[in-house]
Amino acid sequence: MGAGEEASWALVWQQLQVLFWTYAGHLGPRLSPLNLASMLVLCLVLWFVWRPAKGFFAWVFPARIYRHPSFRLDLKLFFLNGFIGLFITLNYVVVATGTAWALGTALGIGPPSPEARMPILSALIVFLAADFALYWYHRLHHDRPSLWAIHALHHSAEEMTPVTAFRHHPLYGLLGGAFVAGVIGLAQGLAMVLILGSIDVATLAGTNLFAALLNLGTANLRHSHIWLRYPAWAEHVLISPAQHQAHHSVDPRHHNRNYGEVLAVWDWLFGTLYVTQPDEVIRFGLGDAAGTPLPQRHPTLRAALVEPLARAWATLRRQA
Ligand SMILES: [Zn+2]
Ligand SMILES: [Zn+2]
Repeated sequence: MGAGEEASWALVWQQLQVLFWTYAGHLGPRLSPLNLASMLVLCLVLWFVWRPAKGFFAWVFPARIYRHPSFRLDLKLFFLNGFIGLFITLNYVVVATGTAWALGTALGIGPPSPEARMPILSALIVFLAADFALYWYHRLHHDRPSLWAIHALHHSAEEMTPVTAFRHHPLYGLLGGAFVAGVIGLAQGLAMVLILGSIDVATLAGTNLFAALLNLGTANLRHSHIWLRYPAWAEHVLISPAQHQAHHSVDPRHHNRNYGEVLAVWDWLFGTLYVTQPDEVIRFGLGDAAGTPLPQRHPTLRAALVEPLARAWATLRRQA
């Protein structure tokens, strides 16, 4: 085996590790013990400060929400998408590795040298690339009618719990994995050429350092009934739970706003930012252009899997 070939395999192995952690960072830790515990601690603080009329558990886990059919569908999709996540990992591995490798080969980069590693900087690059890609991937699903047909399943949730984060059509995750992986692969390839010489991911409990720190406690409140806002300046930088709840609102003034996953900077830069107000009353679900709630399109798992595809197909045929 020549030195060049060895270098290529070293690169592939390194990519596999990077991608594993990227995958873990995006799909695993939402409902990880660390994230759930930090969410509960944050809720306890909020409960003491806000003093709602209900007891702590009745306030954080209202029976009305957890008995709703919307939550039951979320749970079914959570298990289905957990299984499909295996294929999404494969997507990441193949697409991002392929992209970074092709770029590395085309530009003749040598083997990564251990001294050149800058784990914090490389974690930051992976995080920014993934978050930027997710903004555009999400936004495209609102801009294109055929993609909206697929993404509308996420928005048809009438009640929100942390499990709603997994209420997606399997196609959304599969295509998203490939799209995000391509962007990460490009960013990694470029980073290796331009600054790092090598790329690594700083990990904290199995996730990207930056995503983990910025998500701690608040990620699970994005899909919830707890209206947690940040000061206006902070909502220009990070997406607050309230900002994502507004994204799920039937009210037209909230439509097509706040596409960001972790950072609000992309929404700010590209003109889709909505800064929340105190005590907004949000109704979750699909609404028409006037804000009238639409009837539930996805009452069953079967409807959730078939209806989006049928609607996307009909939209594409109309456009053709
Ligand atoms: Zn959306
Ligand atoms: Zn959402």
